[in-house]
Amino acid sequence: MARRIVIAGNWKMNKTVSEAVELAKAVVAKASEAPANVDLIVSPTYVCLTEVAKVVAGTRVALGAQDMHWEESGAFTGKISAAMLVSAGVKYVILGHSEQRQYFGETDETVNKKTRQALKHNLIPIVCVGELLAEREAAKTNEVNERQLKGAYAGISAEDAAKTVIAYEPVWAIGTGKVATVEQAQEAQAFIRKVLTGLYGAAVAEIIPIQYGGSMKPDNAKGLLAQKDIDGGLIGGASLKAEDFIGIALGA
Ligand code: PEP
Repeated sequence: MARRIVIAGNWKMNKTVSEAVELAKAVVAKASEAPANVDLIVSPTYVCLTEVAKVVAGTRVALGAQDMHWEESGAFTGKISAAMLVSAGVKYVILGHSEQRQYFGETDETVNKKTRQALKHNLIPIVCVGELLAEREAAKTNEVNERQLKGAYAGISAEDAAKTVIAYEPVWAIGTGKVATVEQAQEAQAFIRKVLTGLYGAAVAEIIPIQYGGSMKPDNAKGLLAQKDIDGGLIGGASLKAEDFIGIALGA
């Protein structure tokens, strides 16, 4: 069975509620242009979720969140739970993004706790992994991706792993305009699938979509999406314009 292509916009800390609604409407209006095998996701900030949920309800665009906490509820000021995301209409949640790792103390262990909790609440985790520039230059790309992947999936069953999405995001390519070459991306993603095969067997590894993320744009998407192990994109900057976001999906 061919893997689905998952094109997800990560709006990061951009857009007020009214701006987010406007952008979501523009994405919905263009969504029919995207090929039928593509799943489209928009991920606004928490405060915009419920309003954007109304815009995407009943359309082919699904709602994602940018993070969540691993506990059910309680004294965790500033945090949001899986149940709250579900109640707001969220289907996907981005976990372990490099900005969370870099600025907010995310570790492989917290990514694992969040991934388990998301699955418990039937949210689809988009698990992000990727190496820093210094790690790539030190020929540690595979080592880093394997460590992050095994950390994120520790104790997760094959049945649950099969429900997840992975985003390979070389940190040096995020928001920098420096896109990985198709060869670099394909090589890293084939390695990620090999690690998944070791963890869960070929049948499960073959159905988990692996997105590429890092300065993806309409003009470089086609080449990336043509690669055997690149099954979509996690898109930051270019997801803030509906035309560019859908333009990337057109490359699938
Ligand atoms: C991201 O935030 O996940 C990302 C890939 O950003 P950009 O597309 O802007 O590089």
